Amino acid sequence: MPEKSSSMDIVREELYKYTESDIDVKEGRLFTYLYDPDMKSLKEANDIFVEFLNRNGMDYHAFPSTLRIENDIVAMVGSLLHGDSNIAGNFTTGGTESILLAVKSARDMFFSEKGNNRTPEMIVPVTAHPAFRKAAEYLGIKVIRVHVDEDSFRSIPDKIEKAITENTAIIVTSAPNFPFGVIDPIDEIGAIAEKHKIWLHVDACVGGMILPFLSMAGVEVRKWDFMVPGVTSISLDLHKYGFTPKGSSVILYRNHDFRRYQLYVNANWPGYPMSNVGIQSTKSAAPMAASWAVMNSLGITGYLELARKTLAAKEKIVNGLLKLGYHIVGSPETTVFAFSSSETDIFRIGTELKKKGWFLQVQPGSEADHMPSSLHLNISPIHARVADEFLDDLKEITPRVKFEKDSGRSNYDLLNIIQSAKNGHIDIEDVLKEADKYGKNRQELLYEIIRHVPPEIVETAFMDMVNNDFRPSDGS
Ligand SMILES: *Cc1c(COP(=O)(O)O)cnc(C)c1O
Repeated sequence: MPEKSSSMDIVREELYKYTESDIDVKEGRLFTYLYDPDMKSLKEANDIFVEFLNRNGMDYHAFPSTLRIENDIVAMVGSLLHGDSNIAGNFTTGGTESILLAVKSARDMFFSEKGNNRTPEMIVPVTAHPAFRKAAEYLGIKVIRVHVDEDSFRSIPDKIEKAITENTAIIVTSAPNFPFGVIDPIDEIGAIAEKHKIWLHVDACVGGMILPFLSMAGVEVRKWDFMVPGVTSISLDLHKYGFTPKGSSVILYRNHDFRRYQLYVNANWPGYPMSNVGIQSTKSAAPMAASWAVMNSLGITGYLELARKTLAAKEKIVNGLLKLGYHIVGSPETTVFAFSSSETDIFRIGTELKKKGWFLQVQPGSEADHMPSSLHLNISPIHARVADEFLDDLKEITPRVKFEKDSGRSNYDLLNIIQSAKNGHIDIEDVLKEADKYGKNRQELLYEIIRHVPPEIVETAFMDMVNNDFRPSDGS
């Protein structure tokens, strides 16, 4: 703590100095983290965010506006996803909270029906978001991973059915999965869930706010929402293709009986009876008010237009990639996808694109799970403006990187590092030093290691790294 007070101007200036090494990419050059609608008018939602910052949704009796806003949002999203009048749901801080709540509800229903002396199980395709394993670890659930089809990267209904036991509390599917943008066969899995009377969750965190509009735009999208009778709950992020400020997501249930398992009430303390719908108690109305504003401002026509623009940008980029000899992983029906190459080092392509100011998500993949290494893109409306420039840069980079590989210049002795890592422990600092020794890009070497080394060893190394990063500085 500083000894003396300072003016906000001085403090602000200090704070902004911290941002000097944040990624700073020009408009449209980011293909991850940000969903940019390329619409100036939506920026006004940021003012609404600030105006509602200190209204507290924890007590919606004191702030009835927050209840109304939240119910409106659930109704809007519910109608898009073919929910009927029984639909129930809540506004949450993000996909992770939505997923955590759905898993908790499924677990508690399982306990109430089967007794709580068993360990509930969750069936999860390997392509599902890490938030599911996280929820399982938090909530004491056993994870049953199931492999997906190695061409389409969709989960396999048969494999899911075979994984069912008397302890299965929840089956997870994605619409689409994040890495490859591929939608699981939810209609078939829904029939299995109904037959065995098991909770089926659809993770539509990334797809939920664009799939309905892609359908309206004429794209053939197989059934994935509440139209499938077996679907119990759906998670959907507004802060992705809903184009709302960060910290906004929705968890939906087919009806109120399922949602009841999500709620928390405690009257056993000296204060007033505490009731929370989600993880938060104090709950700023800012994200929900800004979301309400964006959704009501765009309406169906606005979202449809943005979806069309996004789709056009995606098609242009995909066609360009195919012309350059890349292949698209699986067959994504959405505006999220990954590409790879059998002829060029995809990690090097990622590095070279970064040098030109393009930011894509590198996906190391996994040797053990037969998952390819790839570069991942979330397409936003803004990319319609930069697609040509992106493809031109890639056209220049691709033969250059391919030549490097052909001439053996990017070959290096990975074997030792990987071998020693496979035997137990890796230290990320050591890996980075090793990269320098071989004249290899540090990041690329790290991706290679992640791809080849058992995930548990990578997890331990990252745990150490994060634990080390998050500590108060010594003032240096
Ligand atoms: C983003 C995402 C999540 C997690 O959401 P957060 O908002 O980052 O917590 C879960 N599943 C999928 C498919 C996602 O794309």
